[in-house]
Amino acid sequence: MTRIFVVANQKGGVGKTTTTVNLAAALARHGQRTLLVDLDPQGNATMGSGIDKRKLVRTVYHVLIGLCDIAEATLWSDSGKYAVLPANRELAGAEVELVDFEARETRLAEALGAVRDRYDFILIDCPPSLSMLTLNGFCAAQGVIIPMQCEYFALEGLSDLVNTIRKVHANFNTDLQVIGLLRVMFDPRVTLSQQVSAQLEQHFGGKVFRTIIPRNVRLAEAPSHGQPGVVFDPQSKGARAYLEFGAELIERVRAVEAVRRAANRPAAASDDPRSE
Ligand code: ATP
Ligand code: MG
Repeated sequence: MTRIFVVANQKGGVGKTTTTVNLAAALARHGQRTLLVDLDPQGNATMGSGIDKRKLVRTVYHVLIGLCDIAEATLWSDSGKYAVLPANRELAGAEVELVDFEARETRLAEALGAVRDRYDFILIDCPPSLSMLTLNGFCAAQGVIIPMQCEYFALEGLSDLVNTIRKVHANFNTDLQVIGLLRVMFDPRVTLSQQVSAQLEQHFGGKVFRTIIPRNVRLAEAPSHGQPGVVFDPQSKGARAYLEFGAELIERVRAVEAVRRAANRPAAASDDPRSE
């Protein structure tokens, strides 16, 4: 069974791309066939996977617009050992061009339908906005992973994000739910970080992932070497945390699937996106 997760938060620079790239590499290391979809015109996930965004012939843009087939645009990250549907600045045009398409919000979902059986996990990296591109990510996925920094404004904007997810759940994709909140760039020496982290646990309970990703310079250095941090320095604290997060996600997904099987309930009939 393929699990499709979107990594989203409309705030900029909160660790979406670092999470997508390192989670993809961690899942690959745990033996999972993984596809990373770069849905951000910045192309950072593409570069961080060791693929030069300036030299791309076909990208996710061509797939969304219907100019090529998804398999033709998919590349391989040698460093990360996962497949990549890459992006570059051309993707910014899709926002406007998609306006002329019917069912424009489900273009990615349709494209992934053709290849999903080839993968155990598909991870989608989103731009810092709740745009048509992010909406395509939400319509294609079963779950949202929300990376969050434990700082004063962390909760600001979270309700917008959750409301958008609820609307998508109601109107387009009844599969969609929040898989979990991931605490990233965590600094345990900062009292405020600990307070916000405790607040998140209090408010969201089991929706908060157990694994915490520390602030770690090796994770920030890795993209300039075209490698996920998990590969660049596997012994670093950041890499170890992402490997642990990969294991936790696999465990969480299997537990949810076991409950569904036991209840003999089709996977599509999920409940309210905020429910546990
Ligand atoms: P955008 O909204 O622009 O797409 P983003 O949410 O994808 O940003 P990232 O690009 O992953 O965020 O991270 C922002 C910056 O923080 C980058 O320079 C990245 O290297 C750095 N960074 C991310 N996670 C960590 C971490 N755990 N420790 C140290 N630096 C980190
Ligand atoms: Mg990013």
